[in-house]
Amino acid sequence: MKFQRVCVLGSTGSIGESTLDVISRHPESMAVYALSAHSRVERLAAQAAATSARVVIVADTAARMRFLQAWPAGRPLPEIRVGTQALTDTAADPEVTTVMAAIVGAAGLPSALAAAQAGKRVLLANKEALVAAGGLFMRTVRDHGAELLPIDSEHNAIFQCLPVNASASAPVGPAKGVRRLLLTASGGPFRCMALDELDHVTPDQACAHPNWSMGRKISVDSATMLNKGLEVIEAHWLFAMPVERIQVLIHPQSMVHSMVEYEDGSILAQLGQPDMRTPIAYGLGFPQRIDSGVGLLQLAALGRLDFELPDYARFPCLRLAFEALVGGQASCVALNAANEVAVDQFLKEQIGYTQIARIIEASLERVARQSLPGPDTLEDVLELDARARGIALELCTSIA
Ligand code: NAD
Ligand code: MG
Repeated sequence: MKFQRVCVLGSTGSIGESTLDVISRHPESMAVYALSAHSRVERLAAQAAATSARVVIVADTAARMRFLQAWPAGRPLPEIRVGTQALTDTAADPEVTTVMAAIVGAAGLPSALAAAQAGKRVLLANKEALVAAGGLFMRTVRDHGAELLPIDSEHNAIFQCLPVNASASAPVGPAKGVRRLLLTASGGPFRCMALDELDHVTPDQACAHPNWSMGRKISVDSATMLNKGLEVIEAHWLFAMPVERIQVLIHPQSMVHSMVEYEDGSILAQLGQPDMRTPIAYGLGFPQRIDSGVGLLQLAALGRLDFELPDYARFPCLRLAFEALVGGQASCVALNAANEVAVDQFLKEQIGYTQIARIIEASLERVARQSLPGPDTLEDVLELDARARGIALELCTSIA
């Protein structure tokens, strides 16, 4: 395996921390080159000191000051780069071989796209980039010979179950012999709660995922199942799969991470502990299998695996995501932007949990009424994203 110099964008997040853990297990074949953080600057300083990162990226000059204050005396200081342009520049830095795109939300799109444009090995955790700009992103991967490895556990599972000749790039059509992709979902913390109680759930309840430990935004998305909706859109782009050939299945144990159904009736599944270090190690080691630090899956102790179809009355956000995918790229940008705003407002206790779906639905209707053309460039996507955020925020304020 060629030595990898890794840029971890969003290193202080849940995926970022797991990525550093895996990298630390393989000093002979990989090292951290650059790290980035948005608000947890002191944590970034500790990470940079521990990994001897050559470059760190912070949001602004105030964060730069905080980084300097937190830096251990006597240690050689990494180069400190500042601002969003530094994220895209570092993703494309000639010293970097591999980029882990683990910033949360559409804020991660420009840097993930820059990594693809620079032809890097791109480990994509930031699903919002594909939701907001799937066509553009996959075209960029293809045109610039980037190597795209899905990190989202479901897509990583599907990637592992596809025919061996399916390449780590951007397919132009569904892999031969594949009938459907079966995306599993845990159903989140509210899978069995009485529907009339959902109006009163708190951010902490929504973030208490039964199986996975994750950032707060994706935890709320898992509770509403909008996360699975984003993943349907992500799967559509990653595997060039028509929407009607993607099925969502609730699987409360979160041990089967997803499946590929073949024309001959076979279904291949990938199983493992719900620990993101497995898909991260798969991406870092590809095409080899390397140690991830994840323990064994004790199937006999687990005893059973359950599956059921999702209920749209409980999970309206999942229906909205399917509708957005059918509606086209502008609808997908609006879906993602409205969700980011609504989840943020919910986490700040400005709106209730069940209002998240209503804000998304109303935002989608407003954007559809404007019948905007599908965005084609990064600038178009960002402009539409900003417009949809404005609409969603206005709706949140009028509801609150
Ligand atoms: P997190 O909230 O724990 O971490 C987010 C990271 O992004 C932090 O390092 C933060 O500093 C950075 N960040 C936040 N806003 C930013 C901005 N405006 N500009 C630059 N950097 C910013 O999130 P997470 O759970 O690690 O998720 C990261 C991404 O991976 C998300 O897109 C999520 O959907 C995806 N993902 C996460 C998991 C998981 O298990 N956590 C699983 C699958 C996919
Ligand atoms: Mg996932």
